[in-house]
Amino acid sequence: MTLMIPFDNSYARLPDTFFARQAPVPVRAPSLVAFNADLARLLRISPGDLEEMAQAFAGNTVPDGAQPLAQLYSGHQFGTYNPQLGDGRAVLLGETVGTDGIRRDIQLKGSGQTPFSRQGDGRAWLGPVLREYVVSEAMQALGIPTTRALAAVETGEVVLREGPMPGAVLTRVARSHLRVGTFQVFAARGQLENLRQLTDYAIQRHYPEAGGPMGLLRAVRDAQAQLIAQWMSVGFIHGVMNTDNSSIAGETIDYGPCAFMDSYHPNTVYSSIDRMGRYAYSNQPEIAVWNLAQLATALIQQFEDKDAAVEEATEIVHAMPALMQEQWLERFRAKIGLIRAEEDDLEMISDLLTRMAQNQADFTNTFRALGSDRARDQFTDPTAYEEWSKGWQTRLTREESPAEVMAATNPAFIPRNHRVEQMIQAAVQGDYAPFHRLNDVLSRPYEDQPDAADLQRPPTESEVVRATFCGT
Ligand code: AMP
Ligand code: MG
Repeated sequence: MTLMIPFDNSYARLPDTFFARQAPVPVRAPSLVAFNADLARLLRISPGDLEEMAQAFAGNTVPDGAQPLAQLYSGHQFGTYNPQLGDGRAVLLGETVGTDGIRRDIQLKGSGQTPFSRQGDGRAWLGPVLREYVVSEAMQALGIPTTRALAAVETGEVVLREGPMPGAVLTRVARSHLRVGTFQVFAARGQLENLRQLTDYAIQRHYPEAGGPMGLLRAVRDAQAQLIAQWMSVGFIHGVMNTDNSSIAGETIDYGPCAFMDSYHPNTVYSSIDRMGRYAYSNQPEIAVWNLAQLATALIQQFEDKDAAVEEATEIVHAMPALMQEQWLERFRAKIGLIRAEEDDLEMISDLLTRMAQNQADFTNTFRALGSDRARDQFTDPTAYEEWSKGWQTRLTREESPAEVMAATNPAFIPRNHRVEQMIQAAVQGDYAPFHRLNDVLSRPYEDQPDAADLQRPPTESEVVRATFCGT
């Protein structure tokens, strides 16, 4: 068998101000630890034998048709503008057009230094690679737009982080790696021709109906509004919503210190580097608006009549909170079994969430169990649930099939942080069974899987993961 990737590259044809041509840097002894055969089929990739795939997905061999490059971008990190970031530990191999007609990037992450590496070693260690593999594929199974994982390899090299760690490379697949920061870099440098080319490229690739920069802004707003409402509905905290991690295609991208909440609290933060709680769970909608405003600011630079552009862009950005709230409400209605819209729904949902926060109720397990005794057991004071439930039961009499609606909206399984950590610890010892099991169970998150009840359980006191490190 020979690995065959039907590359059809478009980014590599853009002006060379957009990237630096850069081959992946070979590693010592690559071994394939995961290959996503379903995704490969979607991408029209013919798998090769294990050794060949290990070599290719480690970057030791460059597959036919690939035109490896490191993309340029900049971005606001925790609110502060960094004029140059770029792929410092990743290379884009190229793109394929899938069986669904969608063009996707194939990128190696952890593939060595590039001209954008600054002080970094260009590498990744096994932990974050497996975390991104599991969590991004779980996101996909939950029905939430996301980059995906095609392969993971161990490099046979040591990477220095908090200590010596096994090195790894992730093959990431995305509708594109265009970020808000990709626009910001050209706008900030006054490279207006490049900004226009990038705008045209993004429109053609993602939103052909957008027509122009303002249409693009509107389309990105709508996609991001959908995405954030979906994150909120499953208790997902991205952790690093910097503008360079904000995808134009509206996918979840860059799984660093991300996590799904266990017990519900709106102020939950996991990232060890987010000391101010800027990217806390409940701040995510506001940050998405802030990030869209940065995209607007960048796009505006290409207009002759700046005043008119500012006015239109402002209107587009200002409409985002209401759009997100609408999406949020629709999703949380479904989470409590409601399809009809009634005036008091918002209050009923907010009331439940308040009671959950006061009673350390597990976010996922409470919603999954609504209506059964297992829901009340989530609350330190079960009467808090029972009081709420009375009004809710009355409301449900005006719905047709609330149980079905809830079962299809409230997952039984999420990648719980402590399970992800345990999986990583096992893999570092050479035991990949937890990794494969997590992937398998999380591929059917809305199904009851009695054999996997242990993966539904919240962490015990000693299992709680208090912070997730960016140590990628
Ligand atoms: P991220 O945390 O993935 O959003 O990355 C932020 C920036 O830091 C990007 O420009 C990355 O390419 C760069 N970066 C992160 N880790 C490394 C590393 N180990 N070596 C080089 N650059 C890195
Ligand atoms: Mg990033």
